[in-house]
Amino acid sequence: MARLTNKVAIITGGASGIGAGTVRRFVEAGAQVVIADIQDELGQALAAELGAAVIYQRTDVSSEADVSAMVDLAVSHFGRLDILFNNAGFGGVSGEIQDTEIAEAYANTVGVMFTGVVLGMKHAARVMKPQGSGSIISTASVAGLQGGLGPHVYSGIKAGVIGLTRSVALELAAFNVRANAICPGGIATPIFAPMLEAVIGDNQSVVEIMRVRMAQAQPIKRSGEAEDIANMALFLASDESTFVTGQHHVVDGGMTSTRMRLAAALEIEVTQP
Ligand code: NAD
Repeated sequence: MARLTNKVAIITGGASGIGAGTVRRFVEAGAQVVIADIQDELGQALAAELGAAVIYQRTDVSSEADVSAMVDLAVSHFGRLDILFNNAGFGGVSGEIQDTEIAEAYANTVGVMFTGVVLGMKHAARVMKPQGSGSIISTASVAGLQGGLGPHVYSGIKAGVIGLTRSVALELAAFNVRANAICPGGIATPIFAPMLEAVIGDNQSVVEIMRVRMAQAQPIKRSGEAEDIANMALFLASDESTFVTGQHHVVDGGMTSTRMRLAAALEIEVTQP
């Protein structure tokens, strides 16, 4: 039996990068998957490529109505919900702290990457608790563990996701529902597009540029790949990890074990958009 046979997963941010890599990995492992994203064209194309095991649903994770509908769709279309991967994100509001505008950009940053995770946990719990099983995985970051690895608000949110995971895991443990976070290091994905100075082309070219730039960002001399995170998510989603909950799992090629810094390796100013 494949590692996720008979399991149903939702992957937010599943149209691109780490999420898309995880959609592919989960389907290979036998899961049925709902891709929840706001990039309709990419999400629909990936679902069409992977066939009947995958459906796409437009979902803004900062909207409770959308997140509730996303969970309901998994249950109505595939019959159950075993795995929620709260993964949607972006760089968010950036710049020096004294210039932080507490308006739309800030609200959207917190709304997607923190409120979105709370909403995912809330609506997954209403299905998983009565079911008596489930695995909720949320993407945090090495930026939630150390300074200098991301914009200020992003770093605070990612630390918050780790704390939220720990707290919610305690409540859900009695129901055999687990909650874990993953802290990726530097992973070559389109998330870095806004940080590159010039307009450099499509998402693939961003990935290729970041792959080269991040090869020196950690002791293991290659960039992280979406598959590296997908493999950790697969372990946390599978029954191989049924005694693992409330933890953050670092997948960073050793970055946080050293004084090396992603920003230095990238030669970019991480606080600038
Ligand atoms: P990505 O840009 O390739 O994918 C992120 C996806 O999230 C996109 O498809 C985007 O459309 C989606 N998204 C954004 N806002 C959304 C919303 N409101 N509702 C639903 N979907 C939304 O980037 P990625 O690198 O794959 O990022 C995935 C996660 O990994 C993010 O949470 C990010 O913070 C985290 N992360 C990435 C890295 C890295 O080096 N790439 C490192 C640490 C953490």
